[in-house]
Amino acid sequence: MNVNLLQTPIDYLKGVGPNRAKVMRSELGIETYDDLLNFFPNRYLDKTRFYKINELQRNSAEVQVVGKITHIKTVAQKRGKRLVADFTDGTGKMELVWFRGHKWIRENLKLNTPYVIFGKTNWFNGLFSMPHPDMELVEDYKKQLRTAMQPVYPSTEKLAKAGISNRVINKMMQQLFIESKGRFQETLSKEILAEQKLIPKAEALFNIHFPKSQELLAKAQFRLKFEELFFIQLQLIRKNLLHKKKIKGYIFESVGEHFADFYNNHLPFALTGAQKRVIKEIRADLGSGAQMNRLLQGDVGSGKTIVALMAMLIALDNDFQACLMAPTEILSIQHYNGLQELCEKMDLELALLTGSTKTAKRREIHEKLENGEINIIIGTHALLEDKVQFKNLGLAVIDEQHRFGVAQRSKLWKKSRSQEGEKLSLPSGGTKGVLLPPHILVMTATPIPRTLAMSLYGDLDISVIDELPPGRKPVKTVHRYDSNRLKVFGFIRDEIKKGRQVYVVYPLIQESETMDYKDLMDGYESIAREFTDFQISIVHGQMKPDAKDYEMDRFVKGETQIMVATTVIEVGVNVPNASVMIIESAERFGLSQLHQLRGRVGRGAEQSYCILMTGHKLSEDSRTRLQTMTTTNDGFEIAEVDLKLRGPGDLMGTQQSGVLNLHIADIVKDNQILQHARHVASMVLKEDPNLQLEKNKIILHTFTQITRKKTIWNYIS
Ligand code: ADP
Ligand code: MG
Repeated sequence: MNVNLLQTPIDYLKGVGPNRAKVMRSELGIETYDDLLNFFPNRYLDKTRFYKINELQRNSAEVQVVGKITHIKTVAQKRGKRLVADFTDGTGKMELVWFRGHKWIRENLKLNTPYVIFGKTNWFNGLFSMPHPDMELVEDYKKQLRTAMQPVYPSTEKLAKAGISNRVINKMMQQLFIESKGRFQETLSKEILAEQKLIPKAEALFNIHFPKSQELLAKAQFRLKFEELFFIQLQLIRKNLLHKKKIKGYIFESVGEHFADFYNNHLPFALTGAQKRVIKEIRADLGSGAQMNRLLQGDVGSGKTIVALMAMLIALDNDFQACLMAPTEILSIQHYNGLQELCEKMDLELALLTGSTKTAKRREIHEKLENGEINIIIGTHALLEDKVQFKNLGLAVIDEQHRFGVAQRSKLWKKSRSQEGEKLSLPSGGTKGVLLPPHILVMTATPIPRTLAMSLYGDLDISVIDELPPGRKPVKTVHRYDSNRLKVFGFIRDEIKKGRQVYVVYPLIQESETMDYKDLMDGYESIAREFTDFQISIVHGQMKPDAKDYEMDRFVKGETQIMVATTVIEVGVNVPNASVMIIESAERFGLSQLHQLRGRVGRGAEQSYCILMTGHKLSEDSRTRLQTMTTTNDGFEIAEVDLKLRGPGDLMGTQQSGVLNLHIADIVKDNQILQHARHVASMVLKEDPNLQLEKNKIILHTFTQITRKKTIWNYIS
């Protein structure tokens, strides 16, 4: 079909309009017809059968019944009223119940007219009732393009509020299929379709939205998952091949003066074996002539910073500049101070650039970066601004990389002013004076299980620091119920009296920000009432950056003993004297986040503690998470559990985007398809590395379209 039609803004689809389009853009990222088409249901309701009322079972799942409303009444209850409709199908009677939206329902419901209703039933006082049923006139029901398996699309509160219900999405989808006549271009080659026994694209799209049967749905899902994973793998493998072959990098031949001076004279402690190994790996990369693209994984506190510094010193030794980018201002400042201290006795110029750097200072920094006076710049996203240009950036280090968005990272690449690596053609000979992309080192404390990392970051090399510096005492972690709060307070008091400091962390989850904020404030007040003899800091997202820094700084200096905060302190903050981490409503945090938070303590010589506070009511998953936390300190083990519990979507902590922004495949559950797709992709590229063969034309076409729209960084976030 006409590709252009699919590029039409969603506003133009009949039944959408500008208001709904706006919500769909912001909530679902749906901008075009094509985006809508690729917005897939996350489950299906089985409406293959109709039930009679006299067949209904207690505790049954959702059921579908045809019948008529004979009477509607309002019933007073403790709070407000409920609306009750008598519903009968000739075999028996049941009640439909609404607790809100009375007026609309009363005005619109038709008496003695056949309806198809669908929902979950309750059994009470000898009668079945169905609260807030899905209902539709039989007359309309028959007119719809409809299938037995009813798709349920992902939804959000805001979507629901804007009236974009599942049924509305469904209608839009129908409209889309009508306008396009359901003709969608094939995206895979005939050969692959035949070999892998895949159904055609158009058929798959139809059946994913309007499945005709369980069997066709399964085929559609398989086809679309395969395709999604295939093209990601194609991109990864191709990128990897290109890297190995074409993307040249600066050759840092010498490990010279700065590195040696630091290593011999200023190293504040002996490096761990793991740190030494990783530095060697990095050194090898930097001297290889290819651009380094390395992911450094290391648990919180494993000592990644010093590794980064030593890599940067190698860049300096070769007359290049280096930068270190961190996701928050607080963290940038800490890095800056830490590195300043480490480099104190060396003749280096370090600078800090963040959003709050004053204009005059900013100008000075810009200048000094361009003329090469600054050797190492540390900062936040501010480093990415167009005005920031380097004389010769040789190495970019990105800390806690999962906190950065996609576009941001690729921007760093372009700081070297040469475009995408793939287009670089290189002169033979040395790399002096040639403009090349900087070497990239990304660091993360969120461990990704190796097997997963291989398929996700196929284009990155991976180093792991799997050893903590000696003398660390593992953090003791316990789970306590809210009812034991007084004891916990007593413990806090004892620790502070010993000279320690304490974090108290509250969850902050966007959907219910105001409520969380209230929890935080209530908590702060109760702590303030309890500990009148101590100084308390508070830091949360609604504060101005200045105020945050001020409070943070007081805590760092030890002027305050208790830090009450939301998760803003999660990343990287280093206060070695803080030895107690209290996590409130711990059941609301993901595992990796809990682990990150716990990593804020246990940084000094003292025994540290992490106390997970919850109420008594806990889900199965929450219990597993809490138990995992209390039984292990090993980030990789925790990551494995996390992966099993939640899938990779949440692996990276709070970020909804997760590791991979997949439409339909699930990296964990569909791991077999993934492996398979990877194999097929590598076979295709082996035979035809540039996809030039006639039979692969269609793959090339799809591939070009996908990569034009998004690079692999869009998948990995
Ligand atoms: P992370 O990997 O979480 O970024 P850091 O680099 O902040 O960890 O290191 C955590 C702490 O451990 C710092 O105070 C650092 O000085 C210290 N450290 C790092 N490496 C060693 C080592 N080999 N021996 C002793 N202490 C170390
Ligand atoms: Mg760190």
